[in-house]
Amino acid sequence: MAVKDEIGRGRGGIGKNPARSRDHNRRVVLDLLRQNGPQGRKELAEATQLSSPAVANILDELLAEGLILDLGRRRAGRGQPPLHFALNPEGAHTFGFEIGVNGIVTVVLDLLGNPVTQRRSDPESLAPEDCLRLLQSEIAALRADAAGQLLGIGVVLPGPFSTDAQRAADPTTLQGWEDVSAQSLSEALGHPVWMENDANAAALSEALFGAAAQLHHAAVIYFGEGVGLGVLNEGRLLRGARGNAGEIGHIVTVPNGRPCPCGQRGCFERYVSRHALAEALGMTLRPGAIGRLWQEQDPRLLGWIAEAGRHLAPMAAMIENMLDPESIIIAGQLPAPVIEALIAAVPLVPSVAAHPARALPRLCLGQSGAFTAALGAAALPLYEALTPQSWVAQPDSARGGEA
Ligand SMILES: [Zn+2]
Repeated sequence: MAVKDEIGRGRGGIGKNPARSRDHNRRVVLDLLRQNGPQGRKELAEATQLSSPAVANILDELLAEGLILDLGRRRAGRGQPPLHFALNPEGAHTFGFEIGVNGIVTVVLDLLGNPVTQRRSDPESLAPEDCLRLLQSEIAALRADAAGQLLGIGVVLPGPFSTDAQRAADPTTLQGWEDVSAQSLSEALGHPVWMENDANAAALSEALFGAAAQLHHAAVIYFGEGVGLGVLNEGRLLRGARGNAGEIGHIVTVPNGRPCPCGQRGCFERYVSRHALAEALGMTLRPGAIGRLWQEQDPRLLGWIAEAGRHLAPMAAMIENMLDPESIIIAGQLPAPVIEALIAAVPLVPSVAAHPARALPRLCLGQSGAFTAALGAAALPLYEALTPQSWVAQPDSARGGEA
């Protein structure tokens, strides 16, 4: 995976610096095992440029903690074959929660990043204090089932974070969460917490598990209740000064268009979002509703797809002209056939992406499914624990307790 390669390879020399912590060297070893699969002590010493006894110490420590497995000796050429070590999938896990206006999506990942639990709940209240109680009991229940240590918890919310009060009436964002920080969640839940907006988490998820796995530059348009953009630049999330980069929902695309709770008229999100779809349908979108309407080929749904496609065309060209992604991935809380129909309905206009040599389509369907943002949430602490350098640079204010 191209993105992963960038994180780990060629970084071995870092471990030689005595000023770097033991913790860092552990991550270098874990990262090599994650990227390259089972390896022997000698290979690890060469790759990290650490001494063989130093690597042995780290391996002993990781074995004692259950984070790696001793696979025994592998037959390889002459003499006594070396011991091989691998990440232990059951050695640790992470939890991811996507809290959106439609409810809570929960994902549990094992140490290899495999989802072991994915589910959705629809609590009556999404106020922070009610959600916290729910997360506390959910975490207790999940911990009873999950093997190994809990590395941390990722929480994703619809963006933008910490903006002014004019957003209070916005039906696509959660109310009352403005002052909730990773730090306060971490204290309440008793574990390190990472926070991210849903579109960024979706981009991370597509990079790790989905359509952006082979891409260095990708843009992910994410359908929560609103719509947002997550950008991977050189395999890293583009976050901006306060984690709000990619807030495309409130870019005006229709001058003097529909009024928006943000105070403007004609915001993109007023035409292209689940909320806009619900308005077009004249109904609340219960789970499964859009899928049923698609099966019936409901004319209101088809009409919205055609209209949304027209609005997406200039937005896609703008994203391409500004960011030059290898492809724009469309993901989130819409059934895959609806996203495919939406992509087909976009009358693409000229941009820097419209060159004949391109191998990938300009727009493509995300592969991580409706759980994509929650998968990205659970991946935040996983990659913090397993990689020598945080690839998701977060401002200090957004960091969890032990980060
Ligand atoms: Zn707006």
